[in-house]
Amino acid sequence: MPDTQQKHLIIGAGFVGLGIAQSLQAAGIPYDQVDASDDIGGNWYHGVYSTAHIISSKQVTQFTQFPMPEDYPPFPSAAQMLAYLHQFADRFQLRDRIQLRRKVTLVRPIADNQWEVTFESGEQRIYKGVILCNGHHWCKRMPDFEGTFDGPIWHSKEYRHPDQLRGQRVLVIGGGNSACDIAAEAARVGAKSLLSLRESVWFIPKSFAGVPIANFAKPWTPEWLQRLLLHLMIRLTFGPHSRYGLPKPQHRILDKHPTLNNEVPYYLQHGRITAKPAVQRLDHHQVHFVDGTVETVDAIICATGYHVAYPFLPPELQRVQGAIVQCYGGAFLDDYKGLYFLGWGQARGGVGSLMSAYGPIFAQLLKLQDQLEIPLGRVFKELGVGLPKTHLSDPQAIFTQLRLLRWAFPWFQRRARQIDHQCQPFANHPLQAEPEPEALSVF
Ligand SMILES: Cc1cc2nc3c(=O)[nH]c(=O)nc-3n(C[C@H](O)[C@H](O)[C@H](O)COP(=O)(O)OP(=O)(O)OC[C@H]3O[C@@H](n4cnc5c(N)ncnc54)[C@H](O)[C@@H]3O)c2cc1C
Repeated sequence: MPDTQQKHLIIGAGFVGLGIAQSLQAAGIPYDQVDASDDIGGNWYHGVYSTAHIISSKQVTQFTQFPMPEDYPPFPSAAQMLAYLHQFADRFQLRDRIQLRRKVTLVRPIADNQWEVTFESGEQRIYKGVILCNGHHWCKRMPDFEGTFDGPIWHSKEYRHPDQLRGQRVLVIGGGNSACDIAAEAARVGAKSLLSLRESVWFIPKSFAGVPIANFAKPWTPEWLQRLLLHLMIRLTFGPHSRYGLPKPQHRILDKHPTLNNEVPYYLQHGRITAKPAVQRLDHHQVHFVDGTVETVDAIICATGYHVAYPFLPPELQRVQGAIVQCYGGAFLDDYKGLYFLGWGQARGGVGSLMSAYGPIFAQLLKLQDQLEIPLGRVFKELGVGLPKTHLSDPQAIFTQLRLLRWAFPWFQRRARQIDHQCQPFANHPLQAEPEPEALSVF
């Protein structure tokens, strides 16, 4: 068994895992990094369709400390995103510590606050801590349909290339970003494109006056002002929903993860996409909708999202409720130290700028954890920080909180030591349990 007991293990070498690795390296914190895949890049390597472009902008999606190449457009493609992550790994010499084709199958706390990690190969290692960066766009959420369908029913994760849609009558289920991208692609190459929306959505233009929407948000823009500005931009770009034959959404803008898309409104007005309500039942190649209409389709694509999942954790450490991980300060448990949940939230901005702000603070917190007996989550809890109420977050609010924590860090450290003193003794409760077998099989 290699001697890894003084190191942390980062699981995942996608955007978040690479960002955290660079922060740990910069802070001089020893770590190893593994990924189940045969290369780095996560979703941008193996998880998105070939025609995907980011919806957040280059400016907010890049790591602040490593800007994307000058010749990248404001909305880079999946291939450009992957190339960028490779450049990032090279620039900060992250590859030496990354081991590929290392799928983690079990992470469990053992005696002396250590963590035992088991790999698919059967190899086991002991680490002082484990940082979970395994992503949240892989565990498919599928709807239950009544009836039978004679064609393929894919999850959007299985949609890889427009050839799958060519000449087909396609029904896309969902109103999120992937649903809209795929429905627009079907409008271009398919014989028919239907978009089934259980409820109407706010289509937010990707740019306004040529500026990517994500670039308008500034640290001083509170959420109510962002809503107001978005209302205005939507109104000026698209006008009311009635012009597209859609009802006005029942929720406020930003109450759900935003759909940034210009193409669906465009193709609705060209008759290349037809909006449909929810599906009632399937009947061979016919789809019956709740409004009584019936359509004949060849393929159904469910862009119905993902579950946040940690199949390698024992039941005791399964802390996901809905889409929310029950942890403090974005990553920390109050009853176990050495286990950190990263990248599970659905922030509206781009992932890079958030990681650039969060990574260095997280590294400082890891160092602080070394000096404490109790878990850092307990410190956050004692200081009155609550559990998250939603998986959606306003990046501007996160930047503000992080700036505050950075500024108040000496005070935070002092209070953490006081609380630690009051709450000792503490030790992780070792767990023998195996992870749930059906949870493992979803990946
Ligand atoms: C169509 C689409 C469009 C998107 N557009 C944007 C956008 O515009 N802007 C934006 O910021 N984000 C966007 N995203 C979100 C995207 O997921 C993030 O940009 C980013 O990829 C998240 O990084 P991550 O490291 O958390 O997860 P991932 O990229 O999923 O990486 C997780 C890594 O963990 C590895 N892993 C998982 N389980 C294990 C295990 N048991 N053992 C070892 N390794 C494991 C995986 O192989 C993977 O490499 C988009 C996503 C999709 C699907």
